[in-house]
Amino acid sequence: MQPLAQSVALLLLCPLAAALPGARGGRGRFWHLTDLHWDPGYEAAAAAGRPCPSGSARSGPAGPWGSYLCDAPWALLRSAARAMRDILPAPDFVLWTGDDTPHVPNEQLGEEKVLNIIANLTSLIKETFPGTKVYAAMGNHDFHPKNQFPGKEHRIYNQTAELWRPWLSDASLPLFRAGAFYSEKLPSPGTRGRMVVLNTNLYYDQNDETAAEEDPGGQFQWLEETLTNASRADEMVYLVGHVPPGFFEKKRGKAWFRRGFNERYLGIVQRHHRVIAAQFFGHHHTDSFRMFYSDTGSPINVMFLAPGVTPWKTTLPGVNNGANNPGIRVIDYDPDTLQDMVTYYLNLTRANTMASPGEAEFPAWEAEYSLTGAFQVPDGSARSMQTVLERISGDPHYLQSYYEFNSARYDLALCKQECRVDHLCAIREVDFTKYDECVKTSSAASAASGVWLLVFCVFLGLLSPQ
Ligand SMILES: [Zn+2]
Ligand SMILES: [Zn+2]
Repeated sequence: MQPLAQSVALLLLCPLAAALPGARGGRGRFWHLTDLHWDPGYEAAAAAGRPCPSGSARSGPAGPWGSYLCDAPWALLRSAARAMRDILPAPDFVLWTGDDTPHVPNEQLGEEKVLNIIANLTSLIKETFPGTKVYAAMGNHDFHPKNQFPGKEHRIYNQTAELWRPWLSDASLPLFRAGAFYSEKLPSPGTRGRMVVLNTNLYYDQNDETAAEEDPGGQFQWLEETLTNASRADEMVYLVGHVPPGFFEKKRGKAWFRRGFNERYLGIVQRHHRVIAAQFFGHHHTDSFRMFYSDTGSPINVMFLAPGVTPWKTTLPGVNNGANNPGIRVIDYDPDTLQDMVTYYLNLTRANTMASPGEAEFPAWEAEYSLTGAFQVPDGSARSMQTVLERISGDPHYLQSYYEFNSARYDLALCKQECRVDHLCAIREVDFTKYDECVKTSSAASAASGVWLLVFCVFLGLLSPQ
């Protein structure tokens, strides 16, 4: 057995609770969950034999715990909440990076429905972790019409701030109402950590509200000031948001931010990287990471993209088989460094062989992998993640493991040449121009190696006896 496979197998054998002792010696743990995308119409549609509302008329088996063609039924969300409580019931805090509503046209939603869905998920998280601090960010689906976030006060910001009021400090409340971003010191006593929650939906290229603006909501300026102040106060910051900068690793050339916004974000990370401990985002529904480099090419920061709870197969044209198993993750940190990360997932196919969701019975969420165990690195620092990137690009076993983790073991196909280029360039280059160069040179390199292989085979063919 490969050492990598061995460590993953060992991890799977561990009982979940035993895998996670409580906080110790300056270290702590928190949950990151993202992209819950509740489909409130799932059960009724399944009972009537109709495709789920979020399935865009795609038909397929609708199991009791969900379907790869659909957003999450309530039973799946309850089982995720139960798994979190069983695995780590008392985290230092919870990160929740948005996207609560189903993938349905705007006409089937509306401001009230969207707020109602946010309210239901807020209650679920509150009941799962009563009294625990939750840092919540809005996703591009948490607005009506979707994606159209303004850089100024709005009724939806006000209403969401009311729902999240128990989690927000007095100073955060007015900031949230004005643009849905805020910053707070971490709750753990004596820590020098700070959470900065951004509304990067303002930078999304689908957002017409902010298209012509230079600094929507003044968020960039506020972020620079916040990071400068953090540096003066000797703090370390976690940057959190929903829509990430850079490219989608499952579709070549697909970015989310407008070009100018992408450049500005990247510039801020480069200038202030010393106070940024790590970045946590969602939106992709896949498990990946992004590297940030200095002008001289040293790794200076890393962004972790967490897998979604919804298994929904994307309808984005050009993405092949883009569904995932539901995923959640625990992050093990100290004030300066991300120490480790354990991702848990639900094998949805297997879960659906269980009888219908009962009160007492929940399907088992399994430990999928730990970052340090699977990739043989000491921690999740930028330097270590550069090593992970080098392992993935240099060793097909690591590439394949990374690829299977990418969809929480839904897509187990081989990641071949094109797939390799898409993933490696997306991880390495958040900058638009550099990403294009990466794709061009990597594709040329793999095409050239293909030609040489062909020449070599022909040569062998000529030499071999007839
Ligand atoms: Zn989403
Ligand atoms: Zn999203």
